[in-house]
Amino acid sequence: STVAVTGASGFIASCLVKCLLERGYNVKASVRYPNDPKKTHHLLALDGAKERLKLIKADLLEEGSFDSLVDGCVGVFHTASPFFFDTKDPQADLLDPALKGTLNILNSVAKTPSIKRVVLTSSEAAVSFNGTPLNEQTFVDETWWSDADYCRKNQLWYLVSKTIAEEAAWKFAKEKGIDLVTINPAAVLGPLLQPSLNTSCANIHNLISGAETFPNATYGFVNVKDVIDAHILAFETPSANGRYLMVERTAHHSEVVNILRELYPNFKLPEKASDDKPYAPTYNVSKKRAEELGVKFTPLKESIRQTVESLKENNHFK
Ligand code: NDP
Repeated sequence: STVAVTGASGFIASCLVKCLLERGYNVKASVRYPNDPKKTHHLLALDGAKERLKLIKADLLEEGSFDSLVDGCVGVFHTASPFFFDTKDPQADLLDPALKGTLNILNSVAKTPSIKRVVLTSSEAAVSFNGTPLNEQTFVDETWWSDADYCRKNQLWYLVSKTIAEEAAWKFAKEKGIDLVTINPAAVLGPLLQPSLNTSCANIHNLISGAETFPNATYGFVNVKDVIDAHILAFETPSANGRYLMVERTAHHSEVVNILRELYPNFKLPEKASDDKPYAPTYNVSKKRAEELGVKFTPLKESIRQTVESLKENNHFK
């Protein structure tokens, strides 16, 4: 059967396309720049690509752009969304493509009765950030929602983008009777297939590239393989529904540096945090729904190791 993947050039989507081809699917995959080999070569080189992968140009901001992508598909994996933090124009750079893009794709889906389910790559960014203090006593689960107004006030624009896009997706899916499932991962680590450095792997790259300090921040982390498993299980398991948080565990960057030091004793790593404030506490995130779906979580240390090894292989790291 044929499935569609949006944003196929990206870190998560490239792995997803690889896995879908391995599982025998025909894949229609959207890219923004079909003529840029840096965005397409690694996809066209995948096993099965010649026979079963079709790249289609589409842009999140163009209405109707995804009509031809989803045509004839039984499932849609919508991963495309801008993921970066540094912006002077959050509305144009992050919020519009995230929100309008999601509605654009769902509009195309609503016109295409062959589609049985849409799996949306949302984020932990749309779950945990509503002003409730995050610390060792906190247990986040899928009933939580980030508060877009709280995130706006704190200029957490990427978090706003993921929150408003997922909110709008659920509203639209309900109105139009679309079977929607969301995957909500924290910072995704693991091997990179694409030549460019995506934001979550760049975070590890920064730590091993001579940074003086590590961020005084605690993130959730998860392995890309597990995130792909969750997407495919969410599509293939008829009873899958709702949101699936994907967080192996949270860790402060001081711990990430300690793990790097254990794995790579010869690396020059930052010794101190970016500020003198107390360390941002770790917090707990439910794995229950993901585990019930069938996901097995790779430990953080292994995810960090795979990321560094991949960065070395891809010459991202001197
Ligand atoms: P990447 O930056 O590698 O991929 C983002 C993708 O979105 C790229 O394919 C990019 O296309 C596409 N895109 C961005 N803007 C547009 C646009 N205007 N029109 C069409 N396509 C566009 O990031 P990831 O693979 O990490 O992220 C993929 C998804 O996963 C995103 O939805 C992100 O929010 C989500 N996510 C990621 C996490 C992580 O830690 N990596 C954690 C939680 C969620 P192009 O290649 O042309 O730039």
